[in-house]
Amino acid sequence: MGIANIVFLVILIAAGGAFTYQVSKIRRNILLGRDVDRSNRKGERWAMMTRVALGQSKMVTRPLAGIMHILIYVGFVIINIEVLEIVIDGVFGTHRIFAFLGGFYDFLIGSFEILAFLVLFACVVFLIRRNAGTIKRFKARELTSWPKNDANIILVVEILLMFAFLSMNATDYLLQERGADHYIVAGAYPVSSLLAPLFDGMSTEGLIMYERGAWWFHIIGILLFLNYLPISKHFHIILAFPNVFYASLTPEGKFTNMDKVTDEVKLMMDPTADPYATPPPADPDAVPEKFGAKDVQDLHWKNLMDAYSCTECGRCTSSCPANMTGKLLSPRKIMMDTRDRLEEVGRNIDKHGKDYDDGKSLLGDYIQEEELWACTTCNACVDACPVNINPLEIIVDLRRYLVMEESKSPTELNGMFTNVENNGAPWAFPQADRLKWAEEL
Ligand code: SF4
Ligand code: SF4
Repeated sequence: MGIANIVFLVILIAAGGAFTYQVSKIRRNILLGRDVDRSNRKGERWAMMTRVALGQSKMVTRPLAGIMHILIYVGFVIINIEVLEIVIDGVFGTHRIFAFLGGFYDFLIGSFEILAFLVLFACVVFLIRRNAGTIKRFKARELTSWPKNDANIILVVEILLMFAFLSMNATDYLLQERGADHYIVAGAYPVSSLLAPLFDGMSTEGLIMYERGAWWFHIIGILLFLNYLPISKHFHIILAFPNVFYASLTPEGKFTNMDKVTDEVKLMMDPTADPYATPPPADPDAVPEKFGAKDVQDLHWKNLMDAYSCTECGRCTSSCPANMTGKLLSPRKIMMDTRDRLEEVGRNIDKHGKDYDDGKSLLGDYIQEEELWACTTCNACVDACPVNINPLEIIVDLRRYLVMEESKSPTELNGMFTNVENNGAPWAFPQADRLKWAEEL
């Protein structure tokens, strides 16, 4: 093992360790949320994950963007099988260790090259479309500064990685043709052989330097990119799978009730219940239950996983009737705000310990009441999301907090609340008058 291999091994271990550390922080942050049981109906969950996350079934509802995305996704995943060979070569100082596979190896390298070209092409199209196009969802207020840069960084890095891969192969191909030491004849190069004329004038030493440079650039780039994922929206390539697996199986439109309120209503409706009965003694150590959510810790862990899984694609926002009619609400912003706040809470815990209160909250400091009350609860955002994220659950929980903890609701609703309380119905008529309409029949 030479010095270069030792350096490579150290970089590899450091990159793997840093990535594991960052993922552990994200896991810790997600588990700050309340508990919710999503372990039931495993068969349906596996089927949903296969269809939606692996099969990208929701992406193709917009065919052009969907197919390009699938190209990038499939290409990137499959090409990275080659990383396995790069890692083994890097550690043991070998070159194209899997060349013994013969014709199958040629097939693999040839397929990787075609996919790499398609990924590169799709990334260039996406970059132009995102920056020079007129698609409204890419121009929204929540998609300026860092989110915009993040999306561009991802595309540029993927372009550079694919170019490094292809130019590395182009020089390798030439070195194989020239019979250079160490460069065994292996692989098929349907794309990079077309690039070879660009390098043909170089000396053999120059080609070796370029090939090694591209090799190091490619693998270091991949390791850096791996560590970029946890701070980027691109983390969805990892979380999309568990996120879809644990998505709610309840039919869209069916709300989850709050247990405490359900119990109260059941008691009210039960003719055998004694309203004056002494309630069971309360646990003096129990933390009083909060209605709804004010901050990220009041949401459940799946809401928080949703926030880390959001790709910021804006399909939810472009389907949202409130957003379409010019209201302040954007379901994508709800998810981005939730993630930003959760990251802030995580940083506070790292710095000051888990009981630190910075006096801020998701509701008010990130998401405003006006946004929440613009929601029609239509579920279009939930339906549109390619990774089964549910912004509506967060909106409803924040609203519940406003109404039930702070008695804050739009005046239009206050009348209805009073009627429910006084009359047991949303209408302004006492229960005793309900059958009056039938008196003259
Ligand atoms: S449920 Fe609310 S946020 Fe989602 S699309 Fe409908 S109005 Fe928009
Ligand atoms: S919630 Fe889903 S649809 Fe909306 S931006 Fe995020 S990934 Fe896209």
